[in-house]
Parts: sequence; C-alpha cells; structure tokens
Amino acid sequence: MKIYNTLTRKKEEFVPLEEGKVKMYVCGPTVYDLMHIGNARPYVVFDTVRRYFEYKGYDVKYIQNFTDVDDKIINKSIKEGISAKEVADRYVEEAKKDAEGLNVKPATKNPRVTEEMPHILEMISTLINNGNAYVVDGTVFYDTQSFKDYGKLSGKKIDELIAGASNRVEVDKSKKSPMDFVLWKPKKDGEPYWTSPWSEGRPGWHIECSVMAKRYLGDTIDIHAGGEDLIFPHHENEIAQSEAANHKPFANYWMHNGFISIDKVKMSKSLGNFFTIRDIAEKYPYEVIRFFILSGHYRSPIDFSKDLMTSAQSSLMRIKNAYKNLVFLKNNCKGTLSENEKELLKKADEYKADFERAMDDDFNTADAISAIFELVRFANSNCTEESSAEFVEAIINEVDLLCDVLGIIPTESKDSSDKISEEEVLSLIEKRTQAKKEKNFALADSIRDELLEKGVILEDTRMGVRWSYK
Ligand code: AMP
Ligand code: ZN
Repeated sequence: MKIYNTLTRKKEEFVPLEEGKVKMYVCGPTVYDLMHIGNARPYVVFDTVRRYFEYKGYDVKYIQNFTDVDDKIINKSIKEGISAKEVADRYVEEAKKDAEGLNVKPATKNPRVTEEMPHILEMISTLINNGNAYVVDGTVFYDTQSFKDYGKLSGKKIDELIAGASNRVEVDKSKKSPMDFVLWKPKKDGEPYWTSPWSEGRPGWHIECSVMAKRYLGDTIDIHAGGEDLIFPHHENEIAQSEAANHKPFANYWMHNGFISIDKVKMSKSLGNFFTIRDIAEKYPYEVIRFFILSGHYRSPIDFSKDLMTSAQSSLMRIKNAYKNLVFLKNNCKGTLSENEKELLKKADEYKADFERAMDDDFNTADAISAIFELVRFANSNCTEESSAEFVEAIINEVDLLCDVLGIIPTESKDSSDKISEEEVLSLIEKRTQAKKEKNFALADSIRDELLEKGVILEDTRMGVRWSYK
C-alpha cells in the first residue's frame, strides 16, 4: 500500500508503527459557523482512508480535533451576545450533523482545545525548559531558529522565510525572529482566558494539535492529515513543537488534500461563491456530495459546479439502480452456483482486485469508482432471471463490500431531496398489484403514472415488478 508523503515528496510503502494498527490525526474545523463545501473534502477523503485501512484489517485510531477557542468564535459570540462556549457547542453539533450526513464514521475521539488546557500548559512549559520557547510580557513564542529542521515539511528554508516575512509583515519587535509564532498569548478585555504561569490568556492555534496527537496517539503517529493549506505554517509548526518537546519524529506520513474551487474560482464570501455543506445538501443528497468528492484523486484540485454534481448524481444512481435490480433478482431467483457461475465469480473478483490496486496506489478513489462501475456493468449483463440466488448474492456482497470502503450506501438513499422513498415506492407497487388482481386497471394505471411523475419507472416481468429511479 503506497501513500504520497508530503514530507518526502514521494509515494512510499505504508509501514505501520505497530503491526495491524494505524494511528491517525486529522486537523478539524474551527467551530464558528456551518462548515463549507471545502471542509467536506478532508472529512470525506480521510474517512475513506480510514475505511480502507479497516477493510485491510487494520485497527484504526482516528483523532480529529475541534478548534473551539479562536478570534472568529469570540467575534461571533460578541455579535450574538452569547458565550464563546455556546457558539462552539452549536457548531460542533452542526459539524457532526454534516459529518453524519456525509456518512463519515465517528472519530475515536474529537478533542476540544478548551478541554485540554492542562496538557497544553505542560507542553508549552517543556518547550520553554528545553530552550525552544521564550516569554515576552506574558506571551510565549516558539523560537523557530532553535529547531534545526524548521521548514522540512514545506520545503522552505528558514533564512528565506525570515527574509520574506521581514519584508511582508509588520514585524513584531518582541519576537527574536519574524518566523517565531505564538504558543500562548495574554487575554484582551472580555475574552475567555485560562490561568498560566505566563499570563491569564489562551493558547495559539498550532499547539493544540501537537498536544492532542501526543495525548491520544503518542509521541510518534503513523499519519497526520489535513488540507494542503495547512502544510505551512500549521503543520510545519506542529512538527517544530512536537519534535522539540518529545525528541522523537512526530508523524511518519503526512497526507494533504487538494482544494475545492467553485466554477474554477477560489471560494470566498466576498465573491458570493461561498457554499456551506448544508446549502448544497438542500439541492443534492449528502451521498452525492460524498460521491462527487471521491470522484477525483484527493490530491488534485477539484472544481465544484452544478454540472459536475448532476453528473455525480446520475453516476451514483446507476450503481443504485443496478443494486436494486440485483436485490430483486436475489429475492426471486433460486438455487446454488452452477459451474459457469463459479467461473464468472472469478471474473468478478478481478474487479475487486482492480479496486484494491487503485486504493493501494495512494487511495486513487477515481479509479476505484471505475472498478465498481465495471463490476456493476458485469452484474447487469450476467445476473439474469436464469441466475442462481447464490450467484446473485455473491455479486451483491461484492458490491456492498467495495461501496462500503468508499462510504457509499447502494441501498437506501439518505436523501434530503424530494425524491420518493423506497418504502413509498414499494407500498404503491403493492397497491397497484392488488388493483390489477381486482381488475381495477384504471387505478393500476394511475398508480403507475403517479410513480412515473415522481421519477420511478416500473417494468412488469415474469418475476414480478421491477422498478428504478429515472
Ligand atoms: P478550517 O476550518 O478553515 O481550519 O478548515 C478545516 C479543514 O478544511 C482543513 O483541513 C482545511 O485545509 C480544509 N479546507 C478548507 N478550505 C478548503 C477547500 N476549499 N478545499 C479543500 N479543503 C479545504
Ligand atoms: Zn492541526
């Protein structure tokens, strides 16, 4: 299994720290608003990475934080006249709703900054004692020049960074170097604060992830992940903190997802092309958002547009309709595998092998989806009314297995759109069958028309009624 490691800029064979186990940390959102469509990408992509490890038999510990102290949260709390905690609690719940809609498995733990304060103070103290941090008037800065590997993740040279920063930003005179960053800062009036040896205040952003990764996964972890915007400075700073505090390598593999743009333009509130996951879920089912995200390689940029979403929706529907047909056949066919079917199952296994090859190659979900389509095409042409129930069931199990790795549910629709539910369809079909038995053809026809209007096509076969969404 190969993973592209941002740290070495190469695809590398994955070797876990501990056999059969994966320790994974993913940077989570700052909880001050509903998550936007860009935030959905790391959620979906790294959940899929986790699912594939689990498929391979690994036991995965998956930690994703919530940043619940931040200027943006404080500003919102002032604007709404409520506490920062109330703002954060609200958006943690909203983020969880979106994650659930996107069929993201719950993390092993979602630590929150406000609940980790003693551990944050402890790591900052260690960094000061080790000579990697210094205090100026209640502020604690990380001394980037004390860490010889600073820049190794982003490939930046510290001298060039310093030169760039000196020209660009207004240099804070209290820092030894313009690249030094804040570990702890004193409160301003009205801000939430915690007591520390240096001042009443709160932590800088970067320290939380170093502390939470250590606390829940250990000094060295297998995989650290997040969006590519986090490579510098956030992840660079996490490495500087963790490695200087623990004297051990921090993460063996660094994974970063590419960005989502909107109609080829960077998403931003001021351009009016800013969409929350919730906005989009009103127009398309969550599962289509997930499918859309996985239809590109996680490191490539992807563009969000109406056309691409519509095309993702119809691709997903192809899988679902084929699946529904398979279930119909399974319920109506009989018998055990024929010799010919045994051979066919070997062929079906090749699609599974293709799927695994794609996922083993740095989680190429685009190719993995193609393998599922091949399998579905194979099922459409080889599962017939003459097939044995055992054969059809074996194919269903294979589709289930592969879809589950991608977090796609081929059966029911977790649908927020106005599409008629499977339950309603089945109940109308039953009504229609009954009407036909009673020779009430007018009613039977009107039910068929009603279903058609709701986007459901019926087909009367020898084995009963088949149906599919248009
Ligand atoms: P934030 O709340 O901005 O810290 O972002 C939370 C996560 O979403 C981070 O891993 C970001 O890298 C990621 N992210 C933010 N915007 C985008 C985007 N447009 N495309 C892909 N990932 C994004
Ligand atoms: Zn982080």
